[in-house]
Amino acid sequence: MHQAAPFPLSIEFFPPKTPEGVEKLRAVRQRLYAIKPEFCSVTYGAGGSTQAGTFATVREILAEGVGAASHFSCVGATKATVREQLATLKAMGVKRLVTLRGDLPSGYGAGGEFHYASDLVEFIRAETGHDFHIEVAAYPEIHPQAKSAEADLHAFAAKVKAGANGAITQYFYNSDAYFRFLEDADALGLGVPVVPGIMPITSSTQLLRFSDACGAEIPRWIRLRLQSFGDDAASIKAFGLDVVTDLCEQLRAGGAPGLHFYSMNQSAATLEICSRLGL
Ligand code: FAD
Repeated sequence: MHQAAPFPLSIEFFPPKTPEGVEKLRAVRQRLYAIKPEFCSVTYGAGGSTQAGTFATVREILAEGVGAASHFSCVGATKATVREQLATLKAMGVKRLVTLRGDLPSGYGAGGEFHYASDLVEFIRAETGHDFHIEVAAYPEIHPQAKSAEADLHAFAAKVKAGANGAITQYFYNSDAYFRFLEDADALGLGVPVVPGIMPITSSTQLLRFSDACGAEIPRWIRLRLQSFGDDAASIKAFGLDVVTDLCEQLRAGGAPGLHFYSMNQSAATLEICSRLGL
């Protein structure tokens, strides 16, 4: 069993779609284990579309002696299907879940018996007691579908009150939003660790497209600098490493309880950032 680093780090992967992707991810994980993550998490596609791949990747991580968390989303799910999947995860030896509502592609009827992630957290606690450590999502820059900033904070509080042990944030590049979120959560007496989600910057178009969809703000100065590099991949990478390492330094200095890296199934940027941070 591998020993986690003293400052908690975690890494997120998505389940690969092809046998080559599975092989590549195995190699990526071995490189990333150098930073001694406390756990690695694996995303779960909308409506359970990646369930087999998610569970297979989680199984491999556990077999490699590393803590694993399965993401688990509930949009379109029924109590019966969730109950069945919880039993499978328990039998696999999974002890950690990242519990989400999820998103369905537009045009899909949501259906299902769960409306919000808080409903799923409550159900998991009622069904399985404290068998699982439950993380939920937090949005320092406000979830794009929230009615208001205040409503979103209360939606977060509902997930904690339903039994979440901690949270991982959507990625952001403005640490003030994160520290303000911590203050607001403290003022509500929530008392759970909120770990910032870190998205290394490795490509400009991908980041800009992805961020628009999930409501993560790319500050104007970062957007313009990235655009000014054009197709110069080396400059984008160098700039991205500087910006994201600075962000991580600010977060650590300000008391963030850990760092969660959205690896996008790549190792180089996460490893370089951790090396610069001395982690
Ligand atoms: P919720 O907490 O249910 O919130 C969804 C929206 O509903 C918010 O706008 C909230 O303000 C509002 N809301 C909540 N409760 C109420 C209420 N009672 N009344 C009115 N409004 C309410 N997606 C995937 O499909 N698979 C993944 O593996 C995945 N992993 C993720 C990991 C992290 C760390 C993060 C930050 C996000 C992840 N996502 C994933 C994306 C996530 O599913 C989407 O952001 C989704 O739109 C919201 O999920 P949630 O769990 O935050 O939902």
